[in-house]
Amino acid sequence: MKIAVLPGDGIGTEIVAEAVKVLNVLELPLELEEAVVGGAAYEAKGHPLPDSTLQLAKDADAVLFGAVGDWKFDKLERALRPEQAILGLRKHLGLFANLRPALCYEQLTHASSLKPELVAGLDILIIRELTGDIYFGQPRGRRTAVDGHFPGAEEAFDTMRYSRPEIERIAHVAFQAARRRGKKVTSVDKANVLETFQFWKDIVTEVHAQYPDVELEHMYVDNAAMQLVKAPKKFDVVVTGNMFGDILSDEAAMLTGSIGMLPSASLDANNKGLYEPSHGSAPDIAGKGVANPLATILSAAMMLRYTLAQPEAADRIESAVRAVLAAGLRTPDIYSEGTRKVGTREMGDAVVAAITGKTITG
Ligand code: NAD
Repeated sequence: MKIAVLPGDGIGTEIVAEAVKVLNVLELPLELEEAVVGGAAYEAKGHPLPDSTLQLAKDADAVLFGAVGDWKFDKLERALRPEQAILGLRKHLGLFANLRPALCYEQLTHASSLKPELVAGLDILIIRELTGDIYFGQPRGRRTAVDGHFPGAEEAFDTMRYSRPEIERIAHVAFQAARRRGKKVTSVDKANVLETFQFWKDIVTEVHAQYPDVELEHMYVDNAAMQLVKAPKKFDVVVTGNMFGDILSDEAAMLTGSIGMLPSASLDANNKGLYEPSHGSAPDIAGKGVANPLATILSAAMMLRYTLAQPEAADRIESAVRAVLAAGLRTPDIYSEGTRKVGTREMGDAVVAAITGKTITG
């Protein structure tokens, strides 16, 4: 099993090093090969996604990604900015399904802005379609209005569109993921107003016929936004389009309180995936050894579960993370009184120790 390891910029190198350490103690036949990406790649090779890095990602079974970006690259033309690397990887690898679990660890319920009883034990998975919808639909642009409320005025427009295969494939991802979890899918749409999302709803319902063991409910996006803060534990898998998913996945992420804890996966049609923490390169704390590596370590666990079909190894990592939290170890972003503040490396070492059966002391 070949893994392309792309640490990137800022805290990317620090957190990916910890995830690699964790993968290496699992005693699996993994071949890890590292390459530059983002600002680091621009500085080394003149492009944020050099051909050699893209080829490595294409040849690998999975990609473990850190983060890209730094303010010092903000003056570069758009095509050369670090963030283009992630868009390029999504496009070239055909990554159309973004999976973001929002899991609230018992010991971190206080970090959520919701009442502890609403989020304790929360475990939901938001699946966002990543390559279609109004973000990519053509035509788009600016023009002079010929009709509407203000004919002759300057206007801007985008096009919301989804094709049948695009909806079918994301629906399959959702139903299959639900089979491995709580067997319930909530499909979020705006079918009451938008033609595109009536079509979405019809097709998700059709695909559901192939998954009689999974429950399907439909929910309008405005209600979903409300239910996510009112009773988030009622959800299991949520599937939605690119724009609604963009917003709802961030809302769900904040239910758990800490960005440093949230992994993510972006999958193609064959379950090949790119795995990365949900946060960015955090230039404000880069190089200080204080970044939380758990989102990246948990991304590696997702990689083992979804792409490499090693659910037991994924379980071992996730249990080890629970064990270090239970022992009271905290990086500064999740620190609270009565726990022990540790740095990036110490947190990674503690996860390794928990996997190898050593006692963790807080
Ligand atoms: P960010 O996620 O990097 O940081 C936001 C805040 O969260 C910062 O205060 C940071 O210190 C903190 N934080 C993030 N991850 C943390 C961790 N693991 N442990 C502890 N604290 C953590 O977002 P930003 O500051 O808006 O963006 C910084 C750079 O990252 C920008 O260049 C942006 O374009 C880029 N970015 C990249 C990705 C990606 O690579 N996929 C995603 C988002 C942002």
